[in-house]
Amino acid sequence: MMNLTILGSTGSIGTQTLEVVEASDNIKVRALGAGRNIKLLEEQIRAFHPRYACVADEKLAAELKVKVADTETEILSGPEGMEFLAGEPGSDTVIAAIVGFAGLVPSLAAAKAGKRLALANKETLVSGGDLVRQALSESGGEMIPVDSEHSAVFQCLEAIPVPRREAEVKQIILTASGGPFAGRTRKELSDITPEAALKHPNWDMGAKITIDSATLMNKGLEVLEAAQLFCVSADKIGVVVHRQSIIHSMIELVDGAVLAQLGVPDMKLPIQYALTYPERLPMQDNRLNLAQVGTLTFEEPDTKTFRCLALAYEAAKAGHTMPCVLNGANEVAVSLFLQKKIGFLDIAEILERVMQSHKVVERPELFDIIEADRWAREEALRLSQLS
Ligand code: NDP
Repeated sequence: MMNLTILGSTGSIGTQTLEVVEASDNIKVRALGAGRNIKLLEEQIRAFHPRYACVADEKLAAELKVKVADTETEILSGPEGMEFLAGEPGSDTVIAAIVGFAGLVPSLAAAKAGKRLALANKETLVSGGDLVRQALSESGGEMIPVDSEHSAVFQCLEAIPVPRREAEVKQIILTASGGPFAGRTRKELSDITPEAALKHPNWDMGAKITIDSATLMNKGLEVLEAAQLFCVSADKIGVVVHRQSIIHSMIELVDGAVLAQLGVPDMKLPIQYALTYPERLPMQDNRLNLAQVGTLTFEEPDTKTFRCLALAYEAAKAGHTMPCVLNGANEVAVSLFLQKKIGFLDIAEILERVMQSHKVVERPELFDIIEADRWAREEALRLSQLS
């Protein structure tokens, strides 16, 4: 029996994880963590009977405590509560599905406690990947990707024994749907609204990652995430636009062979695989029918129009605190765009300027990472007010 803690249980990944749990006989929900949606969290508590639940906000936690007073679930609050949930010994697996930098400290706690960290929260690895990897290697824990592209690479890499990977894998190729605006010119992007950017052609996801997909920042964050997960430099990670989202990613080997993982665009498969790895369990719905798909297409990404992807490669090259700064500034810029305070193209503009004025801190500790994130957010906000 697996004891599972779900951080971000009320979000897109969190709710799909609970669907996977429902379909399984041997996963027990140990704890649930959420931001502000206490209505849904209450329903989840009543359905899954966790030992603990935690909400980001103290006031909402007090409200939830009253609502679920008739249950056995203990209610905690705030970042300390999330950190406790991630590290407490009653669970062996933690699914990290909080959105944004707020996921870093709880993910680190799970890593330090030697658990299986099923990682959806890419911002964690982008900002503090070295710290998470170090914690895992000290504790004996493991990290299995949930992000569909990284799960695909992870699955392809299983064909190559670990000692031969460095010599035999030439590059990782991440596929990108291109988002809703693939093929458009900069001029056509200037008056994009949040409503239009929130309509992803293939995936139904939370708001922040959907905007990141539209700017190609999501693919940039994924390049940085893949570099950390698979311990390769970003120049060994390519991106190809594949609008159908059927090939989830690939690896190219030194002899020219390319291995790919295919499937319908549905996160339940990578979620389930991250939980059950190395085992595979049957999944009934959403089988891939290639004859129905018909055509698979591939294009170079347009990094001149979608600057965010190029910026991510620049951040990877600078290393140290730069990816964290890019991520923090992006979280602010996306939020401002969603509030209609800046335009679609301003996002990349702000990120570029924040990166230009950042003084990289080498080999950062957690304190430096938190400080770099804080600085990047302030700087992004300041620049947005100037424009
Ligand atoms: P959602 O916005 O749908 O969900 C985010 C979750 O995080 C919610 O449960 C939210 O709670 C919670 N949350 C937000 N802020 C805090 C906080 N400060 N403390 C605790 N919990 C918080 O996002 P997604 O599920 O789409 O994405 C989650 C992560 O997974 C992201 O990092 C994303 O990049 C990654 N990912 C998502 C994919 C997808 O298909 N959705 C695919 C691959 C990766 P509440 O809603 O209650 O406020």
